[in-house]
Order: sequence, then structure tokens, then C-alpha cells
Amino acid sequence: MQGSRDDGRASSSTTGREMHPTRWGDPAGAAPLPEPARALVELAFGVTDSPAATAVSLPAPALDEAVLAELRTAVGDAHVVTDDAIRRLRTRGKSTPDLLRARAGDLTDAPDVVVRPVGAHEVAAVLAIAVRHHLAVVPFGGGTAVTGGLAPDREGYAGVVSLDLRRMNHLVEVDPVSMTATLEPGLLGPEAEALLAEHGLTLGHFPQSFEHASIGGFAATRSSGQASAGYGRFDAMVVALTAVTPTGRLSLGVAPASAAGPDLRQLLLGSEGAFGVITSVTVRVRPIPEAKVYEGWRFATFAEGRDAMRELAQSGPLPTVLRLSDESETALSLADPDAVGGGASAGGCLMITGYEGSAADVAAKQTSVTALLTDLGGVPGGEEPGRAWAAGRFKAPYLRDSMLDVGVLVETLETATFWSRVEQTYADVKAALGASLPGALVLCHVSHVYETGCSLYFTVAARATEPAWRAAKAAATDAMVAARATITHHHAVGTDHKPWLAREIGETGVRVLRAVKAELDPTGILNPGVLVP
Ligand SMILES: Cc1cc2nc3c(=O)[nH]c(=O)nc-3n(C[C@H](O)[C@H](O)[C@H](O)COP(=O)(O)OP(=O)(O)OC[C@H]3O[C@@H](n4cnc5c(N)ncnc54)[C@H](O)[C@@H]3O)c2cc1C
Repeated sequence: MQGSRDDGRASSSTTGREMHPTRWGDPAGAAPLPEPARALVELAFGVTDSPAATAVSLPAPALDEAVLAELRTAVGDAHVVTDDAIRRLRTRGKSTPDLLRARAGDLTDAPDVVVRPVGAHEVAAVLAIAVRHHLAVVPFGGGTAVTGGLAPDREGYAGVVSLDLRRMNHLVEVDPVSMTATLEPGLLGPEAEALLAEHGLTLGHFPQSFEHASIGGFAATRSSGQASAGYGRFDAMVVALTAVTPTGRLSLGVAPASAAGPDLRQLLLGSEGAFGVITSVTVRVRPIPEAKVYEGWRFATFAEGRDAMRELAQSGPLPTVLRLSDESETALSLADPDAVGGGASAGGCLMITGYEGSAADVAAKQTSVTALLTDLGGVPGGEEPGRAWAAGRFKAPYLRDSMLDVGVLVETLETATFWSRVEQTYADVKAALGASLPGALVLCHVSHVYETGCSLYFTVAARATEPAWRAAKAAATDAMVAARATITHHHAVGTDHKPWLAREIGETGVRVLRAVKAELDPTGILNPGVLVP
């Protein structure tokens, strides 16, 4: 082991960097809606200050003392936690419905016990106890899940264990020749980056949830970061992984590429804790970039901007960051929540291009991209919009809380499709949301690009109840399926998208998933009800 910042391993009842139980992120980050934004929101939706959070009390843990004693033997007394505050922090994820339920004091999904193992051997011991006593086990990384992946079925189980992986927070190995690093699953994004930085390296995975999500969670949900054009999706970075399942261990990935049958790493990537617990991942790493430049461009229409993106994705050069807001999102300037309706509202569509790498590479790419985008009708906006985007890139989720505080529901959903179907998918999903939630604000951006297509990321703001939102999301997901787009590009399946999975992968595909589950987890203790229909 090398490079750990916590060789003593955390032993307190929490493991630091805990999020607020009913809001996004750092409890200190909570802020009321800025005045100009509040005025806009009032105009669009009216404002009702939401009721104060309900006082909560949790049901007593359902586990008997003998089971708790076995768990204590497996991981140590200090790491079997049943107190209410910690169980509350391990209840569900951070989707808007999750936040609304947390605000309403609904803790029906709370685990009975939080167990904090260290190492594959302790994970295996906990799974063995869970099999013996038929306990549901929910692997827990950062807790930022947005599709119900942390809210399993508890029906028929003797209890629910939150398997908190945050003590598995080491950089295990760096291979500077192959440019890979092996990381434990409980490292949060910033912790992993800090450890890699000691070796002059970066992973380059910066989803909007970066500050609170974990390496294991990135792998288990096939996450995609804001710089995916340059660094790739998380699943594309993984060259090897280890996992513990109730029936055995998996250690996969002995070479950068292989023809030794189907790639079994892909069975664990995106498996959302339903097939096994990912105990390490070996990822491709890059040198810390010498230079970073982010810029803004303006295109007359969303379609023109998308055509330009496609050109970059297919003919290159590709910037490290490439995203394009539609007209509505540009007008609202979500890039900088403190300046809603501000600087970016000069019409058209805002594109952000970012370049990271050696100074020479950055300059060369910037020159070529500038020439190409100019030819394709783009108007350069200089570095100011890019700087504003970079400064605000992790702030938007705090704005969601501020909107919930004044009674406006804000939530996101996402999809991906081939370039030839983007226009139709965009129109259909937008129409489905608009028809379900009259008066809603529906914003969209292209968040990730590929040679063959791109993802579309929608943000919806409406005065709506949770059931109304669920109906709108169902209509939007139906529209995605009808348009032959995916039901999720990077948020994963969880429980929320599961009803649509068979329509994407077919009944035979579902049978394959069930067969894998039956082989690795025959008694169904791992995240029951998540992912596998
Ligand atoms: C405000 C906000 C912004 C977001 N932005 C992005 C974004 O830009 N890009 C993106 O891809 N996603 C985004 N997400 C979704 C979420 O952050 C990702 O899905 C993330 O990868 C989850 O990581 P986590 O560590 O929080 O996992 P958790 O929430 O702890 O778990 C997610 C799922 O993975 C399982 N799991 C976790 N760790 C393991 C493990 N070691 N082994 C097996 N199973 C495991 C859990 O059981 C659960 O089913 C966002 C979410 C929020 C709330």
C-alpha cells in the first residue's frame, strides 16, 4: 500500500465529508435562493416557503443481538453502527424524490445497521453472515445515487445492512510505466484525485457529484464525468477490478485487451451492487494537465451547435470538455447559479469547450477547434463563460435545494442516442415532459459526445408533487424507448428505471441478468429489487 492519508482507517461513527441528511452536499453549502433568482422563480412559478423539515424517528433496528454480535466479530465493534443519525445518513440517495421523502421525515428505507468493512476478507465475512441470516445488503459508496439504487426491497428479509465502504479508502498501487492506478472503492472523487496528485497523476473523472461520490459507485453505475470527451467515461477507464460475491471472488483484467471470451469486467461495471461488491478498481490515469483553458461559444440554434459537436466528435480534434446548452438552458444560464438570467442570456445556445493537457497540446487543439467552430457558424465568447462554467460546475445541486425550499421541484433525467435520432429524441422527451407538467420549465444540454451519438441531459423545474413528477418521468422514459434511445446514459437503472429495462435489452437480455444474479447471489441478498427485473 502506498499514498494513504489515513493509514489508521477511520474508526469514528462517521467517516468525514458526510452530506446533509435532507439536502445535497456539504451542510455548510446550504444557501437561500439569491434575490434575483427568487424574483424570477416567483414570476415563473410563485413561491411558497416549504414547511420546516419534519422531526424524524427511526424504527428500532430489526436485528437481534446475536446477528449484531456476528457482524461485530467480522468487522470490529466500532464498525457495526445502529445509531439513528448514521442510519439516517445511509437512507436512500440524492434524487429529488429522495430529498422530498427525507424532508418529509419518511425513513422507511433506513437500514437496520451500518457495517463498515475493511478489505475483501471482511466484505466476504459480512456477506456470509447476510446469507446465513437472510439479510439484504446495500453496498454504499458516496450515497449520491439518483435512481433508487440504495433503496432495495426489504420484504421477506430479516433486516437490511448498509455496507458502508468508506473505510476502504486507499490508493493500493500506482504503475507509472503502464499509467494505471489501483484504487479502493470507498475513496471519494476528491480523495482519489488528491492521492493520485501525489504521483503527478489524475483520473480526470469529474461528474457533477464528484465531491461526494465514490470510486466504487462510479464503477457500479458506469458514471460519466463532465470531461468525458477528453478522459472518457468511467467504465472506459477501468482496466481491472476485483469483487466479492456471495459465491466467490472475481479478479478480472490481466491485460489492456483480451480475446479470452466475453469481457466479464462489464458484468460488474454497471451492476449496481446486485451482483457483487467491487473491492478495487484499476484505472487508466493521465499526467496532471499542465494547462487548462475553458471557453464559451455561441451558436444560433441548438441544432447548429449539435452539428458542430458531431463534426468535432467525428473528425476531431475533440476538446476535453464539450457541452452545449439548448436555448432555454442558455437563457437561464445554469452554468452560474448566482447569475441566473445573467451574462449568458444574449440568445442562441451556449457551448463550452475546455482543453486540458500540455501547454503545447492545449494551444494546438484550441487553434484547430477555433477554426472549425468558426467555419461552422460558432461565435467565440472568450474565456469568461468558460471560467463561469468551471467555477459553478459543482454548485447547481445546491440550487436545487434552494428551489425545493420555495416549493419548486427541480429534477434531471438523461438519455443518449445516435446522431441521426438526436433531434427526434430531444423533441419527443421535451414534449412528453411539457405535456405531463404544464407550465414546467424544461431545459436541456448535450453533456457527452461520441463519434456515433451523444447524450441529452434534461433539467425540469415545476410546481409539482412527487407523484406528478413520477408520472412525467414515466412519460419521458416511454418517449425515450419509443425513440429508440437509452433509458439512461449515466444515472444507471436502480429501482426507478427497472420497469423499462426489458424494453431496452429484451426478455432474453433480462434472462441473462437473472442467470448471472442466480449464479453469484443465489439467495438474493445483494441489493434486492435493484437493477434486475
Ligand atoms: C447532484 C448530482 C449530480 C450527479 N451528477 C452525475 C454526473 O455528472 N455523472 C454521473 O455519472 N452521475 C451523476 N450523478 C449520479 C451519481 O453521482 C453517480 O451514479 C455516482 O456514480 C454514484 O456514486 P456513489 O459513490 O455516490 O454511489 P452510491 O450512491 O453509494 O451507490 C450507487 C449504486 O452503486 C452501488 N455501489 C456503490 N458502491 C459499490 C461497490 N463498491 N460495489 C458494488 N456496488 C456499489 C450501490 O449499492 C448503488 O446501487 C449525480 C448525482 C447527483 C445527486
